[in-house]
Amino acid sequence: SSVEKNVRLSAHVTRANGLSVLVTGAAGFIGSHVAIALKNRGDGVVGVDNFDNYYGRSLKETRRDLLELNGVYIVEGDINDSRLLSMLFDTVEFTHVMHLAAQVGVQYAVENPYAYVRSNVASLVTLLEQCKSAHPQPAVVWASSGSVYGVHNKVPYSETDRVDPPDTIYASTKRTGEEITHTYNRLHGLSITGLRFFTVYGPWGRPDMAYFSFVRNILQGEPITIYRAKNRVDPAREFIYIDDIVKGCVASLDTSGKSTGSGGLKNGSAPYRIFNLGNGSPVTVPALVAILEENLKMRVEKDVVDMCGDGDDSFAYVNISLAERELGYKPTTDLQTGLREFVKWYLWYYGKPLVEDSNV
Ligand code: NAD
Repeated sequence: SSVEKNVRLSAHVTRANGLSVLVTGAAGFIGSHVAIALKNRGDGVVGVDNFDNYYGRSLKETRRDLLELNGVYIVEGDINDSRLLSMLFDTVEFTHVMHLAAQVGVQYAVENPYAYVRSNVASLVTLLEQCKSAHPQPAVVWASSGSVYGVHNKVPYSETDRVDPPDTIYASTKRTGEEITHTYNRLHGLSITGLRFFTVYGPWGRPDMAYFSFVRNILQGEPITIYRAKNRVDPAREFIYIDDIVKGCVASLDTSGKSTGSGGLKNGSAPYRIFNLGNGSPVTVPALVAILEENLKMRVEKDVVDMCGDGDDSFAYVNISLAERELGYKPTTDLQTGLREFVKWYLWYYGKPLVEDSNV
């Protein structure tokens, strides 16, 4: 089959001197950026993605073209397919797995909970089983989510905080992933790094996310709904630029140490790590919309809707000192700069000139 042919070809993915990395979810927003960054510094990269239809295929197909232009090779397939994974692991000796495939989105889970169990829990076990039996075992870095903190935790969120049972299916599957990876670390000596990303934005981003649809609304002259707490406080949350996240992912791979393969609940010498990757600066939706309006030189109507809560628990931000210390992680892109890059990309991708650049 064409998948088998593609897997055979991946044996020829070379690495100059660096790591040999399997990137899952490589046609996704974060996966495509990380895969290209690794390739550009000389690592061997094989991508896998099932091109799920959650936000349509077309952006993923264009990211595939971009990956291929950069010499990154993608196998189209599902990571629940243990036969596909064992073919891949038989073909390439991976030093690392960067696991970014997931069923994303919070609302979609209300109607489609099984998609999350399948792509965020079952497939994780399938992947870890492969890593467990590989010789040598690769180190695993994977995307958990800042949503595991829920809305009731005290700010700023720290990795050592106790986390309450999650309020959403998406967050439950990510929290479950943290527990399952912990078990594989203890039992099978896999090196595990879980990354709790906060809202990531930037060029090639996800059309299902609010900042993306806000730009669409502004350009089409459609109003934006803003949810405000009863006490008139606007909820604020973290937005972190894609390049900063990529640096955090790459640093995680570089510091992930070795899987020991020895497992053993007693010695447990392979590292198990969890890091917050955010930037510690929450922003409100009206502030975000104002930056987008300024970039587009257009204004949009806002429909303010009252939420039920009093807003006390919707001011979310994160402590990143652990990642700063252990990964040398230092986010450098402020929201103005990052959103400017996003708007530029959006207008280029959808073929709309900026007003100031337009000749018409
Ligand atoms: P994305 O949807 O753009 O990328 C995920 C990719 O995984 C998609 O291309 C999808 O086709 C693929 N995929 C899904 N299920 C698969 C399966 N069973 N087999 C193979 N491929 C599969 O999302 P993203 O924003 O790039 O997210 C990457 C990771 O980061 C995810 O694990 C996500 O949960 C996590 N995360 C993202 C954010 C964010 O703000 N973007 C925040 C927290 C966590």
